Amino acid sequence: MNANGIDLRSDTVTRPGAAMRNAMAQAEVGDDVFGEDPTVNRLQESVAALLGKAAALFVPTGVMANQIAIKCHTQPGDEVIVEMNSHIFNYETAAPAVLSHVQLHPVRGERGILRTTQLAPAIRPNAYYMARSSLLCLENTHNRAGGTIYPLDEVKSIHSFVKAIGLKLHLDGARLWNACIATGNHPREYAQFFDSISVCFSKGLGAPVGSALVGSEETIQRARKYRKIFGGGMRQAGIIAAGALYALEHNFERLKEDHVKARWLAERLSVIPKLKVDLDSVQTNIVIVDVGETGKSADDVLELLKSRGVMLTDASYSSIRAVTHLDVSMEEVKRAGEIIAHAFSE
Ligand SMILES: *Cc1c(COP(=O)(O)O)cnc(C)c1O
Repeated sequence: MNANGIDLRSDTVTRPGAAMRNAMAQAEVGDDVFGEDPTVNRLQESVAALLGKAAALFVPTGVMANQIAIKCHTQPGDEVIVEMNSHIFNYETAAPAVLSHVQLHPVRGERGILRTTQLAPAIRPNAYYMARSSLLCLENTHNRAGGTIYPLDEVKSIHSFVKAIGLKLHLDGARLWNACIATGNHPREYAQFFDSISVCFSKGLGAPVGSALVGSEETIQRARKYRKIFGGGMRQAGIIAAGALYALEHNFERLKEDHVKARWLAERLSVIPKLKVDLDSVQTNIVIVDVGETGKSADDVLELLKSRGVMLTDASYSSIRAVTHLDVSMEEVKRAGEIIAHAFSE
């Protein structure tokens, strides 16, 4: 609950509680630009181990983690294949063009999930007048598709396909933790197929700041240089790394509660004739609701619900998004469900 109502806009709105703040206050710190912050080093080692990779780099944001990965895996003039509704294509302010001088090639997946059959036509033939396809980025879970999960078998096939033609493979794993909790797969099982993975501590896990880029020793060494170039070399960052470590240790398993809340909300809203919910897409902590038949735009619906004490975001011109998280109880989710149901049953 927030002063303005039940806040389901994003799992990034959580605020650190007393125990997390205490862990942050107690953190041992040093200058991380010299590699001397013991808490940052401990976080990087734990995340690398959790994903079964050689190394990890703590960065301020998920966008920076993705953009450093793109920089590490491409040359100017290359082409990067992404899903049409991916975060990298839609919400990262054309950063690949600005920072890496690459072009994005969007391909539409089904509920955000790409299949190898769709990838083959997207690969550029080896011709001097064409861009070089050098990197494929996947997103798990897929935010704009409603928190959908990549089937492990599909990731495996995609990996075999792209490796046979020499592409690098990056995972935008801002919500990889949710995919693991929902499927029971270990983070390592997904990570084994990728050259780099970005993960986030400030979404469902509830830390105030921070993401990590994970990969081989060589990739992360280059990534450290680009983090500095992009302005992300931080000093006594152990204070925020301590929040991330606390979040990993205490808030991972509880993500399943967020999934239960999202499922409840989706089912409640799916029975309202004017609202459309694709229940098959509700696999983790995100619910997308098509409001096209209410006769209102997404913006107008958001305004109406906000005035009644429920805060959501838009997912497109005619759909809205609810995200469940640590700071919203089942009770509040149920109340939000009733408020929305009432608003569209009048
Ligand atoms: C939030 C998000 C990011 C970016 O994270 P920031 O920390 O906000 O920069 C990247 N990818 C996906 C899928 C996300 O949901």
